[in-house]
Amino acid sequence: MKRILLVCLSALILVTAVSGCSANSGKSGKLNIVTTIFPIYDWTKEIAGDKADVSPLVDDGVDMHSFQPSAEDIVKISSCDVFIYIGGESDGWVDDALKEKVNKDMTVINLLDVLGNSAKEEKAVEGMEKEKPGDEEEPELDEHIWLSLKNAKTLCGYIAEKLGRIDSANKKTYEKNASAYSKKLDTLDKAYEKAVKASDKKTVVFGDRFPFMYLAEDYGLRYYAAFKGCSAETEASFNTIAFLADKVDKNNLKAIFKLETSDGKIAETVKSNTKSKNQKILTLNSMQSKTDPRSSYVSVMTENLEVLKQGL
Ligand SMILES: [Zn+2]
Repeated sequence: MKRILLVCLSALILVTAVSGCSANSGKSGKLNIVTTIFPIYDWTKEIAGDKADVSPLVDDGVDMHSFQPSAEDIVKISSCDVFIYIGGESDGWVDDALKEKVNKDMTVINLLDVLGNSAKEEKAVEGMEKEKPGDEEEPELDEHIWLSLKNAKTLCGYIAEKLGRIDSANKKTYEKNASAYSKKLDTLDKAYEKAVKASDKKTVVFGDRFPFMYLAEDYGLRYYAAFKGCSAETEASFNTIAFLADKVDKNNLKAIFKLETSDGKIAETVKSNTKSKNQKILTLNSMQSKTDPRSSYVSVMTENLEVLKQGL
């Protein structure tokens, strides 16, 4: 069955290729860039401006952790000039997809590779639910690298440089756009730093998965959560709930956090197990699935800062 699918796919790709989408000559004559998740898409658009066509893959509300490319997605990837992805735990499908590529000159950018030593291993901090036996994995790099403004700066600089090399006619524009964008990221980074410094609370508790490790470590926040960042678990044991509720009490926290994808049940249960039971449940947006089309990476991270301030 899989084989038949592949043959069909190859035929489809061939038809698309023959019908005239070859390297460097998308319909508009611009660079044709395909990215996976929203943050990468938004960064690349900021850098490319109107000099390239940028399209995201993971944009129909599917969480990146359960994303599987459609035949259409594979075709889109196979003929693009530049493909940009994270390269982490959720991108296991990418290698197979790239085998189908028609454009042999394609530039593939793996952002975890770009970060090199700045990429950090996913950590199970005290209190997190243990993986079920059999689900345990070798330590892996934490893939949620976009949730650090410092990483964002590094990665945008790299993308701009790379685009300038592939499309030298527009090199100056890519550099100029990246440098303007970098200033925005810097300003926001400083604002986070200031907000954390201004608060006497340096601890956050998540009744949820925890993809914000990079952000927390950037500003020296201690964190507790029900699950690791990529965990597929949705049920927290009583021990986990009691542990988190105790951290909320001991640190006298005003809020319990949850993610945009969650129904908040675990956060509510933690709250009902605290002594004062008067915490706010606040939502931080980790941008793992489609985000409101009117928003941008910077606008979401700005909202996240306002939410964080309420909880610190
Ligand atoms: Zn993940």
